[in-house]
Amino acid sequence: MKKICKVAAVLMALLLAVGVLAGCQSETAGEGALDRIKANGKITMLTNAQFAPFEYIKDNEPAGVDVDIAQAIADEIGVELEITDMDFDAIIDFLNAGKGDFAAAGLTVNEERKAVVDFSIEYVTSTQYVIVPKDTDTASYDLNGKVIGVQAGTTGDLYYASVEDYFKAGDVKRYKSAVDAVAEMKAGRVDCVIIDELPAKKLVEENPEYIAYDPGYPPESYAIAVQKGNTELLDVINKVLQKFVDEGKIDELVVKHS
Ligand code: GLN
Repeated sequence: MKKICKVAAVLMALLLAVGVLAGCQSETAGEGALDRIKANGKITMLTNAQFAPFEYIKDNEPAGVDVDIAQAIADEIGVELEITDMDFDAIIDFLNAGKGDFAAAGLTVNEERKAVVDFSIEYVTSTQYVIVPKDTDTASYDLNGKVIGVQAGTTGDLYYASVEDYFKAGDVKRYKSAVDAVAEMKAGRVDCVIIDELPAKKLVEENPEYIAYDPGYPPESYAIAVQKGNTELLDVINKVLQKFVDEGKIDELVVKHS
């Protein structure tokens, strides 16, 4: 059985400040982390369920590749899976505040994040895609000067739209999800949206007036994050993930949720 716990964005800062989150609370990491999870009878996954096929809402419940992996982790430990569905850009702070046991959110491994969390083995390779109106000539599309919609705090935001390494955006509009960014593009407030490959493909499937193309940026890899030093839990996560990878289950799950 999995339980969902939704956190309102406005409450997040307050909750972090007072250190209380009824129903979603877990102890901090370190030695004995697994014993504490077992004693609680549940393990809490932090995610943002607007990132299909990795996490999305189906019949009012979180579903997706990461949710299936998280369920297998919970099963391996023998506890219930609880899911906190929250803003993507607050996930790592929540994890480090002890408000969840692990983050599984199509989370790209990078140096900045590695400095503050520990990552599992990498289980998916991705890259950033650009979503544009379907009549666009993608071969000649110039991102310079464009109003770019992104999901706040993602690699599409921090490594591409908000820096000038690849192009100089006219403006960057940050949203809580790429779903919101596409809605804003439909409303004419954004020229294009940058988001990870499979979520981009899923979004254009649902919005056929748009197409998604690969601008050729470097590959990224997803991993699950735990608090620094939580090797007990990381070992279990890696064991489950390695099995999924070895048995080709990740690809099966991507197909299942696509
Ligand atoms: N892979 C991207 C990142 O880690 C986006 C993840 C997401 O939006 N869930 O920043």
